[in-house]
Amino acid sequence: MRKPLIAGNFKMFKTVHETVSYIGELRQLARDISAVDIVVAPTMTAVHAAAEAAGDSAIGIAGQNVHWEREGAFTGEVSAPMLREAGARFVIIGHSERRTLFGETNDSVNKKTHAALTAGLVPIVCIGETLAQRDANETLAVLDRQIKEGLDGCTGEQLSGMVLAYEPVWAIGTGRNATPAQAGEAHAHIRQRLKQWFGLDPSEQCRVLYGGSVKPDNIGKLIGHQDVDGALVGGASLDPGSFLAIIRGATK
Ligand code: PEP
Repeated sequence: MRKPLIAGNFKMFKTVHETVSYIGELRQLARDISAVDIVVAPTMTAVHAAAEAAGDSAIGIAGQNVHWEREGAFTGEVSAPMLREAGARFVIIGHSERRTLFGETNDSVNKKTHAALTAGLVPIVCIGETLAQRDANETLAVLDRQIKEGLDGCTGEQLSGMVLAYEPVWAIGTGRNATPAQAGEAHAHIRQRLKQWFGLDPSEQCRVLYGGSVKPDNIGKLIGHQDVDGALVGGASLDPGSFLAIIRGATK
């Protein structure tokens, strides 16, 4: 059985100081939780301090982005080995904000995913359709392309340890989330494709999170679907109390 995972994406919120104090509070609040894996993705400047603050607790730290080269003349970028050295164990790749605002493509997602795996980071690869694509009945075809091209060249063994996040773009930061039935349909389809392209065992081990306006009051219904293994949470992760309520609500 897959262990649920709840990941908080701070986006461009919280200073180093605020992040460290948040992690300290979350450590206390979540100290009795072992049935759910917890990940926090702070801003790049706070990754190291967050990892130090998380210490030997069960809170894993993630980067929100990564470059695919180890080093080089790429002003403003950070590599996977650098993130790993700073204390990250996970990295979010291909978030829809990166795709729409910073021109990321399935090809760059693929290169970043391989770089993360090589450096020993767990990629959290984001996929999901826009509203126009959903309205045009293209959701499943878009997901297929994002999985096929984004994970091209990954082995079944690599997929087993990986995390995917299904995030319908129209549900991110909008307060409008997919109904459990819509999320369930997409997740079942993703699981089926993973089975077809990577084999039964990897498809059953890879965790697929839902993301898009997840809150304490809707996590229960979403996690109720057998193919939803947790959530990638933006806005509601910024407060440790509401993040904790989502973590508690994710117990299967
Ligand atoms: C996200 O940032 O991945 C996200 C899902 O944001 P929100 O929960 O605010 O919709």
